[in-house]
Amino acid sequence: MRSLTKTNAFIDGHWVPVEERFEVTNPATGEVLAEVANSDAAVAERAVEAAHNALPGWRKKTARERAELLKRWFDSMLANKQALAELMSAEQGKPIAEAAAEIEYGASFVDWFAAEAERSYGDVLPLQSPDKRVWITKQGVGVCAAITPWNFPNAMITRKVAPALAAGCTMVVKPPQLTPLSALAIAQLASEVGIPDGVLNIVPSTDAKSIGKVLTEHPSVRKFSFTGSTEVGKTLMQQCASTMKKVSFELGGNAPFIVFDDANIELAVEQLLICKFRNAGQTCISANRILVQESVLDKFVEQLKPALSNLKVAAGTAEEVDYGPLIDQGAVDKVKRLVDDAVEQGAECLQGGKVLDELGKLFYAPTLLTGISSTMDIAQEEIFGPVVAIQTFDTEEEGVRKANATPYGLAGYFCAEDYRRIERVSNALECGMLGINAGAISHAYNAFGGVKESGIGREGSRYGLAEYQETKNLTLGGF
Ligand code: ADP
Repeated sequence: MRSLTKTNAFIDGHWVPVEERFEVTNPATGEVLAEVANSDAAVAERAVEAAHNALPGWRKKTARERAELLKRWFDSMLANKQALAELMSAEQGKPIAEAAAEIEYGASFVDWFAAEAERSYGDVLPLQSPDKRVWITKQGVGVCAAITPWNFPNAMITRKVAPALAAGCTMVVKPPQLTPLSALAIAQLASEVGIPDGVLNIVPSTDAKSIGKVLTEHPSVRKFSFTGSTEVGKTLMQQCASTMKKVSFELGGNAPFIVFDDANIELAVEQLLICKFRNAGQTCISANRILVQESVLDKFVEQLKPALSNLKVAAGTAEEVDYGPLIDQGAVDKVKRLVDDAVEQGAECLQGGKVLDELGKLFYAPTLLTGISSTMDIAQEEIFGPVVAIQTFDTEEEGVRKANATPYGLAGYFCAEDYRRIERVSNALECGMLGINAGAISHAYNAFGGVKESGIGREGSRYGLAEYQETKNLTLGGF
């Protein structure tokens, strides 16, 4: 199998060495995987200039020509799925099978938007005035920039880059410091399939602040897209205001997972496991607050407990592993702090609640807590770890009120069978996305995004393309 490990910045179709380097390590073993170019602001500016220069040529191509190149990129990602998955698992820690599934998921955005852009129509207005004709057209916004997180090293990039390129935009990406190799590998594939120089540029760096400043304040950048924490998102949005960029922000969540008394409990347990333990709980749409109606609590816990015991925790390279290490020591410390604090305040730990030292210092046990109250830190902060923290409620109204009592509004989940309840609760929950009897809700065809402090804009679906387009109105006179 070929190696796709690239370690330099990718600008204007070239691998640009930068003298200063930073180490990328394997979280399961601590092994150093690569020393990667540590780009500074000047390198980021070069990348923006490359994207700016490449824009006219890329924009001039027909939608079909761009779609064909994107389809080739998609094919190449799938053809190299195993190599990309092994690279991702090594730098990020997720099981290889899960990494391979992310490659498929990430590539699916490329496929989706290649097709979507070919069907992106404008409007021809009916006659409104005898001497004029009006058309409304769609046009790519221009140079785009993105900053992405480490939890999905491939998909968080493709779901921004694919719609941008499909719409006729060029792009600069700053990948996360912890997982830049997956980003650089797909840039190599983009170059190989013939995506023109300068259309996609990648600037790895440990100096997120300086690179972020260039990408959010450079006048040539017309659109900025970010996935990461709400705190950083707010700063970046302020920076974007200086040049009034079009923006998308996909930020933190505090997803409720509500189990009502009419739920199919077996299904609820199954879907919670899918939702909670993907990527060891390190996703922004992980169920964070498990809200169970009092009358079904015992039944729910009875079924959940053995299911949790069956989870296999090991390095991502092991066979049939459910989840691997957390990303770094900071992540483990946070989970420990939240669990210990909850227990100190009276929560009961029915399972786990500790680091699995025999595996290594970043492996945290599948953990089950009951007796959580909504004021505990664990109910207010994103856990980002393999912990099921259960609160209870009495009535439907109380369940919904508790679910909405957060500044966040990314994903929400609930399990119920009564269709009237499903309709009522769907309307009442303040979330951008709902999983109803469903714990897996990420697909290229879905509109992914949040409300409240979880962000602005949507990724995937036809709405994901519109984020990279301007609507232009043409009025033709003289009739
Ligand atoms: P998390 O690491 O929890 O996913 P962050 O918001 O810290 O969330 O990081 C997401 C991305 O934002 C990463 O690529 C990181 O390097 C970048 N980042 C962090 N702080 C800043 C900042 N001040 N300016 C620009 N980018 C930042």
